[in-house]
Amino acid sequence: MNKPSLSSLCKRLDYQFDDSSLLEEALTHRSAGASNNERLEFLGDSVLNFVIAHELFKMFPRLREGDLSRLRASLVNGESLAEIARELDLGDFIKLGAGELRSGGHRRSSILADCVESLIGAVYCDSNFERCRELILRLYKNKLQNIPDLQSLKDPKTRLQELLQARKHALPQYEVTHVSGKAHDQLFEVSCHINEPAITTSAKGRSRRKAEQLAAEAAITKLQHAFEQEQHD
Ligand code: MN
Repeated sequence: MNKPSLSSLCKRLDYQFDDSSLLEEALTHRSAGASNNERLEFLGDSVLNFVIAHELFKMFPRLREGDLSRLRASLVNGESLAEIARELDLGDFIKLGAGELRSGGHRRSSILADCVESLIGAVYCDSNFERCRELILRLYKNKLQNIPDLQSLKDPKTRLQELLQARKHALPQYEVTHVSGKAHDQLFEVSCHINEPAITTSAKGRSRRKAEQLAAEAAITKLQHAFEQEQHD
């Protein structure tokens, strides 16, 4: 496969490297040699998290720490970084070892995501914080303009807890009612009980946590229904 030239990548990044060896290093996966992008990835991860944290901090002056963390996690994660990598066709530029190359490593999300981080680290080393921040904001432009709804980022157990707390009701109780299957393939059955209004739901899942989330989800549906009834009474 003929690799497209690095200058076309720089064009897409809208950044020209003074030291092109940093760019090469950022694009070299650990399968391709001892001098690889892991150190730059480590650095880039940190700068990226800081820059996005600061953006969210400025954008949402009233949000609390937990919600800011949740928003940041929704923006900075393996999947969103892989998406950014695919928009840049980064896979075409990554240098992989023979094994990774054969198994299609240049399409793997984790490799792509790490490479975005290492590129960020490389730009930081090649220039300065401000230029690096500009790059991050370019890469994240769409995502920062389309911040997801906070409520949708919360898991069902958290949402259920907040619904009950808002009405000063007691918190739900979860109980494992049944476990079946062999050690590596267990199925958990969990009940979720609310005192007021009296609601019990149950759900099954491959982990206790998963089952609890499903039971909470079912309880939210019942609870909302009960609250609607209250309003009509
Ligand atoms: Mn990483």
